[in-house]
Amino acid sequence: MQAWSDKRRAEGKKIAFVPTMGYLHAGHLSLLEIGRKEGDSLILSIFVNPTQFGPTEDLDSYPRDLDADLAKAKEAGVDAVFVPQDSTLYQDNYQTFVKLEKLPNHLCGLSRPVFFRGVATVVTQLFNITRPHVAVFGQKDFQQLAVIRQMVADLKFGIKIIGAPIVREADGLAMSSRNAYLKPEQRAAALALSKTLAAAKTLVAQGERQTNVIQQKAREIFAQYPEIEIDYIELCDPVTIDSVETVKGETLMALAVNLQGIRLIDNTVLIP
Ligand code: AMP
Repeated sequence: MQAWSDKRRAEGKKIAFVPTMGYLHAGHLSLLEIGRKEGDSLILSIFVNPTQFGPTEDLDSYPRDLDADLAKAKEAGVDAVFVPQDSTLYQDNYQTFVKLEKLPNHLCGLSRPVFFRGVATVVTQLFNITRPHVAVFGQKDFQQLAVIRQMVADLKFGIKIIGAPIVREADGLAMSSRNAYLKPEQRAAALALSKTLAAAKTLVAQGERQTNVIQQKAREIFAQYPEIEIDYIELCDPVTIDSVETVKGETLMALAVNLQGIRLIDNTVLIP
C-alpha cells in the first residue's frame, strides 16, 4: 500500500483517503464522492479496528460484507481498497498508542474509555500507510472528527481533513452500519434521536438559548420510549467539545443512547 501511494505521489498525483470499518452505506459513499473530487487517486480502507472496542462491546458481531463493499467501492470509482489483517497493523510486540489529553474526556470518551485511543492510533497508522494529501471523515462521528483534526494539527501530519455532512434515511435516522442490528420494532424508537435534534433546532429557532431547557425537552421526548436508555444529551463547543450553558455561537448538540443493547449516536449543530 505504501509503495502504491509513493508511486502516485512520485507522479505528482493528489491522494484522497477515506477510512471506514466497512459494511458500506450511503454515508460512506458520500465521503468517497468527496474524496473522488478532492484527489486524483482515491483510497478506501476497510478495517474493524479491535483496539477501539471495549471488552464488552460488539467487535465480534460488527457487521461485515467484504464482497458487497468491494462492489460498492468499484462503483464509487475507488482506485485502491486497503483491507489489512489485524496482525498487519498490530504485529507481535505492538506497543505504541496515540492518546489525546483532553478531547476524549467528553461524550463518547466517557462511556467508551479506550475508543479514541484506538481511533487515533489506527488512523495514525492508516495515514502512514496510505500517505494521503486529504482525508474525509463524517460529521456523524463529530467528536471523532474533532479528535482527528486535533491530532493532525498537534502532530503536524500535513493532511487536509474534510468533515462531511451526516447522511440520513428518508425518515431521519442517521445512517450507520450498526443500524443493521435494529429489529423492525426498534426502528421507531431509533427515530427518537433525530426527532430530539429537530425539536432542539425548533426551540433554538424560537429563541431558546438555555442548555438545560433544551436538555429537558430532549429527556421528555426520550421518555416516550421506555426501551431507550440515555447515555448523554450534551450541548458543547464544536471544537473543544466542552459543555456550554447557553447557545451563543454554533453549538454542537450530541446524543448517545442505548436501545436494548444497541448504541446509537447522532448530532447536529445548533445555530442561534
Ligand atoms: P465507520 O465505518 O462507521 O467507522 O465510518 C467510517 C466513516 O464514515 C467515518 O468518518 C464516519 O463518520 C462516516 N460516516 C458513518 N456514517 C455516516 C453518515 N450517516 N453520514 C456521513 N458520514 C458517515
